[in-house]
Amino acid sequence: MTVHASPNTHHASPPLVAIIGRPNVGKSTLFNKILGMKTAIVDDVPGVTRDRNYADATYRGRAFRLVDTGGLEPSASDGMLALIRRQSELAIAEADILIVLMDGRSGLTPPDYEVVKLLRGIAKPVFFAVNKIDTPKADPLVADFYRLGTDKLYPLSAEHGIGVAELLDALYPLLPAADEASATAQLPRIAVVGRPNVGKSTLVNALLGEERVVVSDVPGTTRDPIDSLVTHGDRRYLFTDTAGIRRRGKIDRGVEGYSVMRSLRAIGRSDLAVLLLDGVEGVTEQDTKIAGAILKQGRACILFVNKWDLRAGETEARQQYERALRRRFPFLTWAPVLYGSALTPESLRPFFPAINDVHAMFTKRIPTGALNSWLQELLVAHPLPVRKGKPSKITKSAFITQVATKPPVFALFVGHPGDVTPAYLRYLENQLRDTYGFAGTPLRLLVRKK
Ligand code: GDP
Ligand code: GDP
Repeated sequence: MTVHASPNTHHASPPLVAIIGRPNVGKSTLFNKILGMKTAIVDDVPGVTRDRNYADATYRGRAFRLVDTGGLEPSASDGMLALIRRQSELAIAEADILIVLMDGRSGLTPPDYEVVKLLRGIAKPVFFAVNKIDTPKADPLVADFYRLGTDKLYPLSAEHGIGVAELLDALYPLLPAADEASATAQLPRIAVVGRPNVGKSTLVNALLGEERVVVSDVPGTTRDPIDSLVTHGDRRYLFTDTAGIRRRGKIDRGVEGYSVMRSLRAIGRSDLAVLLLDGVEGVTEQDTKIAGAILKQGRACILFVNKWDLRAGETEARQQYERALRRRFPFLTWAPVLYGSALTPESLRPFFPAINDVHAMFTKRIPTGALNSWLQELLVAHPLPVRKGKPSKITKSAFITQVATKPPVFALFVGHPGDVTPAYLRYLENQLRDTYGFAGTPLRLLVRKK
């Protein structure tokens, strides 16, 4: 008898579900309860950071990775709000789905609001759960939490396992089916976004048609009817939210078409946004809004200035446009700019190479050793801002590590986080970009106390 090793079809990383909330609301209890459920398979994942627990789990056959943000003890020097902020920021940056857990017994508290405030503008799915609703008698306690303005709350008792399945059932449609997860999870997910009439459907059709690509809707779950799988060269790409833009000649383009709202949704489901701009009309308020959303959500970005065929004869056009871009998008200077025309296939040749480069940067991980040699060299030239009377000791003990990718997130550990000024952080970011590239991807730098 021959035993075949079963093919490993689950190497793609499943969506990350983070439980956030102030201390003592029951995050760890919920974490353990979910993992202890019959359907869950617990598997230790080598920790990215020490202060959080990661575990792989499945619910009704769909995989996800759960992270519990608790476990950090507030230190004397930074208060509870700072602690919550620190824990939550990281979770929000890297999670795909968030569960905000609150304590039904204590009602809404200022730290709860602090957590909710951090979520403002974040387009990831968020579930608000109220814990410690142990008996029906406690149900009225939930009402207070509607002040958050959410229309759905999940009352539960983590300790007694009440309401936990209901929460997971709500999450379930957002989890990719197993075969979909393995087949498509690592593919670059690209959103072509921009205001109406800028040329999105023309571009998407050109990209999907011209290269003789295989276009198929991805079978499976929630993602399926609107994404397109595209093969170019020997690589595959997932273009998200293409349903409305693949078809040309839409009815009522402005309202029903691919509006800013749809752009926002597409961005939320992607790694990388290609923001189309109109080469003739220039940058508008709507473009700025979409660009802001890309930045806020931490997505990689390429700017594609379309309809450039209409400015073929102008000598100063590019310089002029670049000046306008710098003025309107001072926060997006790291995004590569392509000029082209969706109507001219040759002008689209740089498109996929640019996508490949930017995606590589978005997913790049720099080893901690290399990163710290780099930091030490840097600190010699530009020491950290030093507090009064305490010289470069601080500098010596500084430590940096990359805690996440997509986008790259770095944590800088220092003795006195308060001493690290925004200007110094900007300097660090620029130096990271100078040394490692990172074109097309946002970077995040967190300062933590050693
Ligand atoms: P964390 O700091 O948010 O991770 O909170 P823990 O999971 O450590 O829980 C804090 C406290 O709340 C512990 O004493 C738990 O036993 C208690 N707790 C957690 N869930 C429940 C619940 O559903 N009902 C009640 N009554 N207590 C709970
Ligand atoms: P969408 O609303 O963003 O999907 O825009 P469409 O793709 O429907 O394009 C709007 C109009 O601009 C159509 O008439 C296109 O033919 C035209 N168009 C799109 N791309 C270009 C281009 O690169 N150059 C020129 N001259 N016209 C373009």
